[in-house]
Amino acid sequence: MNGYGGTLLRVNLSSGKISKEEISDAMKRDYLGGRGFAVKLLWDEVRSVDPLSEKNKLIFSIGPLSGQMLPSAGKMVIASRSPLTGGYGDGNIGTMASVHLKKAGYDVVVMEGKSGKPCYVLIEDENVQILDATDLWGKNSFEAQDLLEKKHGKNSGVLLIGPGGENLIRFATVMSQRGRAGGRPGMGAVMGSKNLKALVIKGTKSVLNFDDAKLKEMVKKGYEEIKGKESYEFWMKQGTMQAFEWANENGCLPTFNFREGVFEFSKEMDGYVLERLHTGRKGCPMCNMQCGHLIKDSSDREAELDYENIGMLGPNIGIRSLPQAAALNRMADEWGLDTISLGSCIGFLMEASEKGLIPEKIEWGDFEAAQKLTLEIGKGEGLGKLVSHGVKAAAETLGKGSQQWAMHVKGLEISAYNCHACPGMALAFGTCSIGAHHKDAWIISWEIANDRFSYDKSKVEKLIEFQKIRGGFFESATVCRLPWVEVSFGLQWYPEYLEAVTGEKRTWEDLYKTGDRVLNLVRAYWKREVPSFGRTWDYPPGRWFEETQSHGKVKGIKVDRAKYEQMLSWYYELRGWDQNGIPRRETLENLGLRGVAEEIG
Ligand code: SF4
Repeated sequence: MNGYGGTLLRVNLSSGKISKEEISDAMKRDYLGGRGFAVKLLWDEVRSVDPLSEKNKLIFSIGPLSGQMLPSAGKMVIASRSPLTGGYGDGNIGTMASVHLKKAGYDVVVMEGKSGKPCYVLIEDENVQILDATDLWGKNSFEAQDLLEKKHGKNSGVLLIGPGGENLIRFATVMSQRGRAGGRPGMGAVMGSKNLKALVIKGTKSVLNFDDAKLKEMVKKGYEEIKGKESYEFWMKQGTMQAFEWANENGCLPTFNFREGVFEFSKEMDGYVLERLHTGRKGCPMCNMQCGHLIKDSSDREAELDYENIGMLGPNIGIRSLPQAAALNRMADEWGLDTISLGSCIGFLMEASEKGLIPEKIEWGDFEAAQKLTLEIGKGEGLGKLVSHGVKAAAETLGKGSQQWAMHVKGLEISAYNCHACPGMALAFGTCSIGAHHKDAWIISWEIANDRFSYDKSKVEKLIEFQKIRGGFFESATVCRLPWVEVSFGLQWYPEYLEAVTGEKRTWEDLYKTGDRVLNLVRAYWKREVPSFGRTWDYPPGRWFEETQSHGKVKGIKVDRAKYEQMLSWYYELRGWDQNGIPRRETLENLGLRGVAEEIG
């Protein structure tokens, strides 16, 4: 099938063996690419392994649209069994490595085993080598990127870890290009456990598409449509930071470890402050709406911001200065730590201190303390050790009721939306494939614009539709969803792009089914790998059920537990899962997953 490199590259870091396999057309049709390929490989090849042992595998995967010259297509999925959650883990990253991987002729790289010493893998078309990385080990992700670019060329595709990944911090990410990050559920730690510091990819071949002339014409029109959208101008000014003011007004801005949803000092660090401090913009390849906004941080260094990291490293820990939040973000990027989990861990420790559960005194908004904690977390030392496995594990260690305000689902920290008064978004976090991430279904803006307080079945139906598009299609295709989400770029473009690239005609109905197959296999993977997996794994934290915000327009409101249970039951029913959240046999069989049905009983 056209549009793919067509080859899976396998690198065994224990034996040094490098092999290549053809990817079948059936695999391409059934799983599309990216997340689809990743979960299929994990299902087939990674069972009952310690996520940080050499038996785990780390998968780098792209789809038919990735790396192509079309809107926001420079994405790649990185997946593995997660050391943070124990279940399926992945994340997408925008990187030149995606473009180079496609040009080198590969759709998937599977890293196996563990190198005896620090190494990196160099992929230059057919030529693949495992090289010594002793001099890179210990370097932060910016320094190591510089050194690798110096050696292999500025335009190489580089994926690497910082010291957080080397130190096996369970929410370490994979980094690229000084600030792009992916793989929240510890993909960087899996890389570190293999003594793998980096991948450097250089591809020089042309991609064989079905109809290049048509693609070229549609791509031109697509970029033009994006630029012509009404919301484009404001997006280019603020990017995802446009959500900051909106979230605060609607009581959704995570504040003081999600205790509140309104931050008194929000005007000191919202999107308009960003506009004043703005020094430049960065982003993923092929994107004409780049969302990484640069400012000088409090140490006068360049830092890249978006809503999630400022929400979590700002109000969520009481920081009221954009340059200070940016400085913490820069540290997280250098250390290769997930900014959302980092903000949640620091917030957890601040609240634990306030409640007298730990002897250390850490005040909300104390920037120096937050910097110190970031370093300790990156090293897994001192108080950082308590949260280096995430807030779920920290609360299990600490006890004393802290489970109620350890803000996670399935062990993955919640991204920057407070849901005391957004039951649909609470359910989206509850049922997301990797734990509490907004990637699969950011239903909150639809919910607030429509009937935010309802617990109707129609809301559950909308959530499932979003999950199929976002978590199923976009993650597998593998392209950025933000042109559609943020400037209303038409979904009808994607089947057309796919046809021009692959030669296969697919409707959105077909793509929904593919998305369903991928999401059901993810669910089956959780069931197989986590013995206690079931309904209770789909609950958001107690704080949203038991506590209310003290001020703002949703003061006094909390998620109604009985109504949440009803929504969850509808969700399972609509998904074709039993009331414990496990896919039914006929659901799996209808998706061509009979073998999977037999395995999970
Ligand atoms: S919108 Fe942002 S995340 Fe999406 S491709 Fe562009 S720069 Fe990357």
